[in-house]
Amino acid sequence: MLLEGYTKEIFRSKCNTQAQSLHCFAHLEQDISEVIPYLNAELEGDAFTREPPSVTFKAHGKLITVHPDKIAINALQDEEEAEKVCRWLQREINAIWDRRDEIEPKYAVRTRPQIFSILKLLPTSAKCSRECGQATCMVLAKLISEGAVSPEACPYLSGENLANLQEYLAGFDLDV
Ligand code: SF4
Repeated sequence: MLLEGYTKEIFRSKCNTQAQSLHCFAHLEQDISEVIPYLNAELEGDAFTREPPSVTFKAHGKLITVHPDKIAINALQDEEEAEKVCRWLQREINAIWDRRDEIEPKYAVRTRPQIFSILKLLPTSAKCSRECGQATCMVLAKLISEGAVSPEACPYLSGENLANLQEYLAGFDLDV
């Protein structure tokens, strides 16, 4: 067994303390660096970094980032759900590690953030007067995906959507 245990740290978004959903860090008892390329292959990571190793993917409606010593999970309802997702991750990590001889590890280079993944988190506000300086939310989403502007350019983006977008973008090499 590669991962024997973890300690959960549950917290609310620092950007919006009124947000209902919770975030969780699972602090790992073992270093799981070596399994990360195998997780990238089996769980179809949306983003992967080689040094330091990390993989980001979506599962159970959550955006999950696995680091060597920590796993970050967002948009959780409560501690019970956090424990459920952590246990599932521990099982997946150990099962994939056990089968690693049958799996081709994937060391894919980082890809750009997807425009539509960004767009669906933008508010497309009816009250908008295009304060971001762009003609449409789509144009701003494209610029964000290129690292040309930061999400804070839209004054209507806040709370959980802002936190989720920041976490999604953190998986890529963007010079904003
Ligand atoms: S991204 Fe720009 S166009 Fe879209 S809601 Fe925000 S300010 Fe308005």
